[in-house]
Amino acid sequence: MEGQEKLLEIHHLHKDYGNGAVLKDVSLDIHKGEVLVLIGPSGCGKSTFLRCMNGLEQIQSGEIRLDGKVITDPKTKWSEVRQKIGMVFQSYELFPHMTVMNNILLGPLKVQKKEKKEAEKDAEQLLDRVGLLDKKDAYPRQLSGGQKQRVAIVRALIMKPEILLFDEVTAALDPEMVREVLDVMLELAKEGSTMVIVTHEMQFARAVADRIVFLDGGEIVEMSAPEQFFTQPETERAKRFLDTLSFE
Ligand code: ADP
Ligand code: MG
Repeated sequence: MEGQEKLLEIHHLHKDYGNGAVLKDVSLDIHKGEVLVLIGPSGCGKSTFLRCMNGLEQIQSGEIRLDGKVITDPKTKWSEVRQKIGMVFQSYELFPHMTVMNNILLGPLKVQKKEKKEAEKDAEQLLDRVGLLDKKDAYPRQLSGGQKQRVAIVRALIMKPEILLFDEVTAALDPEMVREVLDVMLELAKEGSTMVIVTHEMQFARAVADRIVFLDGGEIVEMSAPEQFFTQPETERAKRFLDTLSFE
């Protein structure tokens, strides 16, 4: 990644919910076009880390920069920053009383003040890309989990974010729907999107990642290319983590 443009820089991040440190001196640079996969045991701080990256959690110390600009500042306008840092959650977070189209248009119309016609065109294009154009007038309850998650991805993409964060977006899905969501993410990776992905799908992690970041106990324990990490982890902690997976 030498010489590549840094998009998100995280320096010495500390996060504490009030009963002990959850993230301890975490530093990480994410480069433009890079796909970073964050893995680690349950409770190690993966979700917290992602949530800190787009201001859903306050941090105690450290600094985050986006495009060189400090965003962990009291003056930061998070509504602006979040247009550049999109996030997709395990639980979709779609509004049940709104159609697919209206869920997707909410950001472009209310936040970005886009023109409706233009935004609709964008939405249709993106829905088509994930194979859901025929569902634009459906309500979330009429969709499968995999379809809902693809809508949630479209809702993030329509804001044209510079970076996308994915927090275990297939963890709540029935096994037969996992693939269709992972395929969309693989497609985005191929197109050069910058992404940070938290996942337990290790084969997918290996296929999609430029770098694996292994987090344990709120610290980055290991950071390496996927081949290296999965075949020759450097630390005992990573070895132990990989061993537990093979028994699942
Ligand atoms: P992971 O996503 O890796 O499973 P989390 O980031 O969700 O881990 O949680 C890391 C630690 O922070 C856990 O010990 C968890 O109990 C704690 N934690 C997470 N969210 C909160 C919260 N809102 N308030 C207090 N503690 C929290
Ligand atoms: Mg989590």
